[in-house]
Amino acid sequence: MNDIANKLIAERRGRLAAERLLEQKQAELFAANRKLNHHARQLSHEITETRAEVEVIRGENKRVKSDLNAAQEKIAVVERRLWHSIRTIKDGFAFFDASNRLIMANEAYLSVFEGIDIVETGVEYATILEVLTDEGIVDLDGTNAADWRTMMRARFDLDTPPPIELKLWNGRSVKLVDQRGPGGDVVSLGLDITETVRYQAQLADAREAAETANRAKSAFLANMSHEIRTPMNGVVGMADMLGDTGLTDDQKLYVDTIKSSGEALLVIINDVLDYSKIEAGHLDLHIAPFDLERAFQDVTLLLQPMAQAKGLSLVLEYDLFLPSMLEGDAGRLRQVLTNLVGNAIKFTAAGHVLVRVTGVPDDVTRRLALHVVVEDTGIGIAEDEIDHIFGEFTQVENERNRQFDGTGLGLSITKRLVEMMGGDIWVDAVEGQGSSFGFRLTLDVTEGSVAPLIVPKPLRRIILAGPDEVAMAALARQLRQGGPQVDVHTSVAGLLNSVTAADCVIIDENILADTAPIWSDLHQTSPETACVLLCKSPDQMRADADVPDDSICIAKPWSRQSLMTALGTAADRIKPPADTARRMRVLAAEDNKTNRLVLEKMLGKLNIDLKFACDGTEAVELWRSFAPDLVFMDISMPRMDGKAATAAIRAAEQGTGEHVPIVAMTAHALEGDKDQLLAAGLDQYLAKPLRRTALEEQLRKALPPHAAALTQTDSHE
Ligand code: ADP
Repeated sequence: MNDIANKLIAERRGRLAAERLLEQKQAELFAANRKLNHHARQLSHEITETRAEVEVIRGENKRVKSDLNAAQEKIAVVERRLWHSIRTIKDGFAFFDASNRLIMANEAYLSVFEGIDIVETGVEYATILEVLTDEGIVDLDGTNAADWRTMMRARFDLDTPPPIELKLWNGRSVKLVDQRGPGGDVVSLGLDITETVRYQAQLADAREAAETANRAKSAFLANMSHEIRTPMNGVVGMADMLGDTGLTDDQKLYVDTIKSSGEALLVIINDVLDYSKIEAGHLDLHIAPFDLERAFQDVTLLLQPMAQAKGLSLVLEYDLFLPSMLEGDAGRLRQVLTNLVGNAIKFTAAGHVLVRVTGVPDDVTRRLALHVVVEDTGIGIAEDEIDHIFGEFTQVENERNRQFDGTGLGLSITKRLVEMMGGDIWVDAVEGQGSSFGFRLTLDVTEGSVAPLIVPKPLRRIILAGPDEVAMAALARQLRQGGPQVDVHTSVAGLLNSVTAADCVIIDENILADTAPIWSDLHQTSPETACVLLCKSPDQMRADADVPDDSICIAKPWSRQSLMTALGTAADRIKPPADTARRMRVLAAEDNKTNRLVLEKMLGKLNIDLKFACDGTEAVELWRSFAPDLVFMDISMPRMDGKAATAAIRAAEQGTGEHVPIVAMTAHALEGDKDQLLAAGLDQYLAKPLRRTALEEQLRKALPPHAAALTQTDSHE
C-alpha cells in the first residue's frame, strides 16, 4: 500500500513538475510570440517605406532619362553644327586620339593628301608624316626627311607643341597649331598663312628697297655736304676778310649779307646731314669728359649777339654747385642747346630768353640728373600744334610764323639727340605768351670733377687777394692744377708786400674799403704785374675815374670761362715786346689754293711766322726743317693725306719727348669722326669753313711761353 501511495505521490509530484515546466514553456513561447509580432510589424512598416522610396526614385530616374535624351539630342545637334562649321572653314582641322590616331579631319586638312587613300580615319600621325615627306607634299628646303620626321614626332608628343610653319609643294604656307588635351588626344589646326607670308615677303622687299634708297640718299647728302662746304669755306672766309677792309656802308651791308647767307646755308646743310645720319643710324655719340658749365657758356656767348640784335636779354642761370666735369658728347649737347636757345630767340620779339640749368648729383652712383629749361617770352605755340612740334619738317603753319625761316628739322634732331643720350624732352607753351622747352639727362660725373683752369704759361706766379678765405683757397687749388705758384692774401697790406714777385694778382673788390687807391699803389709798386678785379659791376668799376680804362674786370659771380679769358688777357700784357722775342712758328698743310688764301688772310695780321705745305709729304718735310709750334693739317690731300702725315710726324717724335700740337681741318662731315682723328695722332679738329676766332684760339693755346705776343694790341681787346 505504501508503495502505491508512494508511487502516487511520486507520480503527482512528477505531474506537477511537468505542469510547471509546461506553464513556464508556454510563458516563454508567449513572450517570443510577442516579440516576433513586434518585429513583423516593424518589418512590414519598413517595407512600406522602402517601397515608397523606390517609387520616388523610379520617378526621378524616368525624368533624368528623358533629360539625358534631350541633352544627347542637343549634343548631337551642336556636334553636327560644329562639324559642319569645321568642314566649311578653309583652314585644316583634325583630331587625334591619345595613341596619335586620326579620329577625324575636315576637307581642308585632307585636301593636302588628295588621292592618297591611307590618310583616313585611324591612320597614325607617324604615317601622315611619312606621306608628307615621301610624296613630296612638304617642302623640306634641304632638311633630311628622316630628321624632319623625328623632329615633328617629338614635337607632337609635347603637351603644348610650339606652332610651326610649313611650306607646301604648291607654294602655299601652313602654320600648324597643335594642342594636346588632358586625356591625351590632340586638336590639330593647319592655318593657311600663304597670304600673310607673301605680304611679309613683299614688305621685307619693300623695306630692303627703301633702306637701300635711304642709304644712297644719306651717302649722297653726306657727299653733297662736303662738296658744298669746301667752296663755302672760300665764300664765308673771304667775305669775313673783305669785311675788315675799308668799305662803304653799302659795301659792308653786301658783304655781311654774303657772310650771313653763307652761314645760314651751312646751318641748313648741317641739319640735313645730321638728320640723314640719324635716319641711317650712322650718328654715334662721342662720349668724353667735358666741362658742363663751359658748354652752356659757349652756347650763350655764341647766341648773345643774335639776342642783343633783337633787344632781348639772354640770361644763363647756372647752378654753381653742379659738378663741372661730366662724361658725355659735349658737341651734341651744345647742338641741342643751340637749337633750343636759337629757336627761343628766333620766335621772341621782346622780353627775355632764360636758360636755367639745375641738377641733382648722386654721390653714390657718381651720376648727375641734369635738368635744363629754355624759357622765352615769344609767340608761344597753339595747343593743337604742340603735339607735332617735335616731328620732322614741322613748322607751325600760320601767318605769324611764316615770317620765320628754317628747315623744320631742328626740333626733331634735338629730340632724337636727347633720346640717344638717354634723356627726354618736353615743351610747355601758351600761345602769345611764350614757350618753355625742357630736357632731362643723366650723365656720369668724372673723377676729380672740378675742371682744371687752364692758366696761360706766362703766368707763373699768381696772387689771390680777397676777404673770403674759403673761396680764395678753393680758387687757388683750381689754379694750381694748371701749374703756377699761387699765394693767397686776405689783407691789402700783405698783398702790397709781395706783389712785386707776381705776374698777376686777382683781387676781390670786397677786400678794399675804397677800391680806387689800390690801383695806383699796385702800379707804382709793381708796374709789370697784371691785375684782375672781381667785382659786382665791371662797368661801374671802370667808370670810376681812378680805375684805369683798360683794367681787367670780371663780374661776380664769375664763371670759369670769364676767369680764363681774363687770365689770357693778363698773360698777353706781361709778354715781352715783339721785337725781343721770336715769333710763333705755324705750319699749315692745305692743298686747295683758295683755302690757303683764306688761311693766309685770316692769320696774316697776326705776329706769327706762317708757312704752307701743299700736301702731306711737304708737311712732314717742313715739320723737320721749320720746327713749327703748331700745325694746321687738312685731312684730304693728294700724295699723302693729313692722317698719314700726322702719323709720320708722331712716329718721328717717338722718344724725343716732343709733341707738336696738330689741329685737323676737315670739310667732310664724315671725316670729322673725332675718334678716328685722335687715333691718327691729331690733337684737335676744326670744321670748315674755318673761323678766325677758332684759329686764333688754337694759336693762343699753343703759344710758347717765350714767343712774342700774337698781336700788339692784344692787351686792349
Ligand atoms: P625750324 O627750322 O622751322 O625752326 P624746328 O624743328 O626747330 O624747325 O621748329 C619747328 C617749329 O616749332 C618752328 O617752325 C616753330 O613753329 C615752332 N617752335 C620751335 N621753337 C619755338 C619757340 N621757342 N617758340 C615758338 N615756336 C617755336
